[in-house]
Amino acid sequence: MRADDTPVAIVGAGLAGCLLATLLGRRGIPVTVYERRPDPRVAGAERGRSINLAISARGLAALEEVGLKDKALGRALPMHGRMVHPLGAPQNFQPYSADGERAINSISRAELNAALLDAAEAVPGVSLRFSHRLTGVDAVAGRLHMEGPEGPVTEDAGIVLAGDGAYSAARRTVEAFTAEQDFLEHGYKELTVPPRDGEFALDPDALHIWPRGTSMMIALPNLDRSFTCTLFWPKDDFDALDTPERVQAHFAEHYPDVADLIPDLAGDFALNPVGSLVTVRCWPWVRYGEGAIVALLGDAAHAIVPFFGQGANCAFEDCVEIDRCLGETGGDWARALSLYQENRKANTDAIAEMALDNFIEMRDRVNSRVYRLTRSAQHALERRLAGRYVSRYELVSFSTVPYAHIPARLRRQNQVLAGAVLAAGALLGLGVRALRRRR
Ligand code: FAD
Repeated sequence: MRADDTPVAIVGAGLAGCLLATLLGRRGIPVTVYERRPDPRVAGAERGRSINLAISARGLAALEEVGLKDKALGRALPMHGRMVHPLGAPQNFQPYSADGERAINSISRAELNAALLDAAEAVPGVSLRFSHRLTGVDAVAGRLHMEGPEGPVTEDAGIVLAGDGAYSAARRTVEAFTAEQDFLEHGYKELTVPPRDGEFALDPDALHIWPRGTSMMIALPNLDRSFTCTLFWPKDDFDALDTPERVQAHFAEHYPDVADLIPDLAGDFALNPVGSLVTVRCWPWVRYGEGAIVALLGDAAHAIVPFFGQGANCAFEDCVEIDRCLGETGGDWARALSLYQENRKANTDAIAEMALDNFIEMRDRVNSRVYRLTRSAQHALERRLAGRYVSRYELVSFSTVPYAHIPARLRRQNQVLAGAVLAAGALLGLGVRALRRRR
């Protein structure tokens, strides 16, 4: 199947779906995007999705491909490090990079999605169909079954690219896609810290963390000078706070420095939903039918927990990779999608594991003195051995090194370091013995 004569359908006009539509449209490939929601630029954003996102090097590199990097950065707030709020001790700032210069960027999900929708819509050949909810895919015939504004709709497409999120209908209804969904016992709930006297109530240059061992709260700044706080708690803990008094008392005890910054804390807590956190491990991502191919991308293929702030960054990388593989294969969809899944799977597996591990780092380790000393030592090494010693955070957030290369690279670095420490120890021992002999 050639890229120029096969009808292409993208399911989901979320972050990945819109970016991919733009990239394909620019190749001259006609694309129709089907989205469950009404146009969010008209109807407003949905409640219950994360309000802001941290976008870093990978996401920015992908946005640059469609000329949106500067626009995104212009509407983002840089966060140069973590501000850790321990219980009963002063807050402390931990820079993300050795030079303190590098930042991840807090950006509104709704604004980013709107900018991507505008970009997709502006490309000739891309059409967006809102209020079309996919209910099933016939992968052999390439037939999409949807619920449209006026009832059931079916559409045919030779290529179906499903970016319909973590609970993807395409993934669930195509038998070949074998998926495992691993839910955390933790859920998340968002709260808002409004501006105080017109100013940010907390330092806007940081991602704030209140690490509390088995749970935590984080806060990211917004352009309107508010902060979006996200509680990551075991789900039962949300249920236990079932009266306004219990909510107030819990925050006064565990988050004393924010309790007074949220005017209607108990009301917001009761109103805002608890979301689930899931890791999706799925394989294959591509199903070859007789006249059609169905492929998954973004969260539909590999949803991850949000503790490295990489889900969207990673979904964007998928889009760039599909586009790159189409270029490499001269527009041969079958080969391009096969290459795409082979190239991406190890990377998405690697970031899924690192994201899970980072939850423990954020909710617990950042509090410890040993952790802070280790991070300072890492930064000192990064300065001394520029390019040869690079921390995991730096590799994930400030580079586009494939995720799958990162664990092995860290192991190599640590071996070299351990060897150097041993050699230094041995040299010191020899020196001491030589001195003793001379005396
Ligand atoms: P989505 O953005 O979920 O888009 C899917 C689209 O498909 C939506 O528009 C949806 O309406 C549509 N859709 C769904 N079902 C259907 C259907 N049946 N028919 C038609 N359309 C459908 N990532 C980061 O990089 N940085 C962060 O800081 C970050 N923070 C996060 C915080 C939280 C609390 C959570 C939950 C996630 C966070 N993520 C973050 C992850 C990020 O949100 C996702 O990885 C990213 O949105 C994935 O993009 P996507 O396009 O694959 O899916």
